[in-house]
Amino acid sequence: MLGLIQDRPLLIQQLIEHAALNHSDTEIVSRTLEGGIHRYTYGDAHLRAKKVAEALLALGIKAGDRIGTLAWNGYRHFELYYGISGMGAVCHTINPRLFPEQIVYIVNHAEDQLLFVDLNLLPVVEKLLPQFKTVRHVVAMTDRAHLPKDLGIPNLLVYEELLADQPGRYDWPVFDERTASSLCYTSGTTGNPKGVLYSHRSTILHAYAAALPDTLNLSARSVVLPVVPMFHVNAWGLPYSAALAGAKLVFPGVALDGASLHELFEQEGVTFTAGVPTVWLALLQHMQANKLKLSTLKYAVIGGSAAPPAMIETFDRDYGVEVLHAWGMTEMSPLGSVNHPKAKHLKLSREELLDVRLKQGRPAFGVEMKIVGDGGKELPRDGKAFGDLMVRGPWVTRGYFKGEGGEIVDQDGWFATGDVATLDPDGYMQITDRSKDVIKSGGEWISSIDLENAAMAHPAVAEAAVIGIHHPKWDERPLLIVHRKPGAKLDKDEMIAFLGIKVAKWWLPDDVQFVEAIPHTATGKILKTRLREDFRDYKLPTG
Ligand code: ADP
Repeated sequence: MLGLIQDRPLLIQQLIEHAALNHSDTEIVSRTLEGGIHRYTYGDAHLRAKKVAEALLALGIKAGDRIGTLAWNGYRHFELYYGISGMGAVCHTINPRLFPEQIVYIVNHAEDQLLFVDLNLLPVVEKLLPQFKTVRHVVAMTDRAHLPKDLGIPNLLVYEELLADQPGRYDWPVFDERTASSLCYTSGTTGNPKGVLYSHRSTILHAYAAALPDTLNLSARSVVLPVVPMFHVNAWGLPYSAALAGAKLVFPGVALDGASLHELFEQEGVTFTAGVPTVWLALLQHMQANKLKLSTLKYAVIGGSAAPPAMIETFDRDYGVEVLHAWGMTEMSPLGSVNHPKAKHLKLSREELLDVRLKQGRPAFGVEMKIVGDGGKELPRDGKAFGDLMVRGPWVTRGYFKGEGGEIVDQDGWFATGDVATLDPDGYMQITDRSKDVIKSGGEWISSIDLENAAMAHPAVAEAAVIGIHHPKWDERPLLIVHRKPGAKLDKDEMIAFLGIKVAKWWLPDDVQFVEAIPHTATGKILKTRLREDFRDYKLPTG
C-alpha cells in the first residue's frame, strides 16, 4: 500500500521562491568586479532569476541545454544558479583557474551553448573562443558602461541588457525532480576532468542535510560568506542551503586575500564562512600581522584538504571561532561529513577534544560510509583499522557525464572515494590519506597528512607537504618539503627534532627540503603530482 502524501517534486526554483516569500528583505551583499558593494534582497534576486530564465528562453535555450559560467562569487552568478536550473537547463560552473586546455576540453565536452563570464575573465574567453565548438553567445556579466572597449568577442551580449528586456513574470515550470540541474567537473590531477551531473532532487536533499545543526547549522540568523568558489562544487551547496534557511549571504567576489576577507567579515557581521586551508592561512597571517580580531564570526568550515591542528587551535584560542572540519568530494555534492562534538566530548580537556575535532567528522543522515580492505572485505569501525573509504547516498554520483570512466559504483551502489580512512564507534571518520599519496614503507603505511599536520605546528612553517621517495630497502620513504614563513629561521635538524616528539621514529622524514612556495591545484589542494615531478631526480641522503 502506498502512502497518501503528495508527490511534490523537489525542485531548485522552490528554494529561491521560498526565500523570496518568507525572507524577502533578507540581504544578499556582493563585492563586485566593477568596484564597490552591491546590496539587494532575496525578493530582488528572485525577480532577476526569473528574468534570467526568460532571457534564456528568448535566446532559444531548451531544457537540458548546458549553460557555462566562468564567474566568481557574486549576485549575478547566484541569479544564474536559479534562473538556469529553474527553467530546466543545466548550470555548468567552470573553474577559471584551470589550465586553458582544460577549460577548452570542459566547455566542448559539456557542449555549452552560452557562456556567462565575469568582467576580468573576458580576456581568457576571448583567447579561447575559436576553440569552443558549441558556444553560440558569450554574455558579459556586467552592464554596458563597464564593458571593456576593444574585446574581440563576436556576438557578445551584456547581462544587464538581457535582463532589462524581460518582464520577470515567468512561472517556474514543474518537472521531474530527477532532472539534471548543474554540472561540475572534477579538477582531475590525472587524465581529463570528469563531469558530475547533479539533479534537482539531489541538490535539495543535500541542502536540507547541509542546514542541519550538526552539519553547517544554518538558520535565518546566520550571515554566510562562502569563500569557497561557486565554481567549486556549487560553493559546497551554500547558495542553496542559505536560501533554504533564509540566511543572509555575503559574496566576496574576486578578492580572497586576508585583508579583503577580514574587512567584509567585520562590515557585514558574518557568522559563518567556508573555504580551503590555504585561504585561512592567508587570513590568519594577515590578522596576526595586524593584531586584528573577529567580532561576529562563529564558524569556519575547513574542507577540501585536511585542516591542520594548529589552524583549528588558532581559530579557537585567538579568535573565538569554532572550526567545523568537513570532508567531501565533487562526486558527493560535496558534503560527506562534518565534525561537531557529541555531548560526551564536552567533558574532555582541550587537548583531548582537539583529537576528536581533527577527524573529518560524522556523516549527515543520507550518506552511508564503510571502509574496506583487500578483496573488498569490510573492516571494523574501531577507529584503528584503515581501508578504502566507500560511500553511497542520494547525493552521491552514480556515473560521470557521458559515461566517462565507465561503471564507477559497485553492484550495491558503493562509490570508492580514493581516500583511505578509519571509522570509529561514535561514527567519526578520519582520512589517513589519499590512497595515491600514502607512503608505503617496508609494508607499513605512513600518512602524509599526519606528517604534514605535525610539521605545520612549528611556528616557522607556513606550509608543509610530504611525498614518498623511492628507497632501495624500504620501497618508499617520506620527504618533507617546507615553505617557511617570511623571515623565519628553520633548518633540517630543528625540523626533524620537532617532529621527533610528535610522531613515531620510523615515520620521521628521511630529509627536509625548503622551497619558496608549494604548488596548489585549481581547487587549492597541494599539487603532489607536481612535487613528485620536481623531485623526480632527487636522491635521499644515505646513512
Ligand atoms: P577537486 O578539488 O580535485 O575537484 P574534490 O574537491 O572533489 O576534487 O576533492 C575531493 C578530495 O579532497 C577528497 O577525496 C579528499 O581526498 C580531499 N579532501 C576533502 N576534504 C578533506 C578533508 N577535510 N581532509 C582531507 N582530505 C580532504
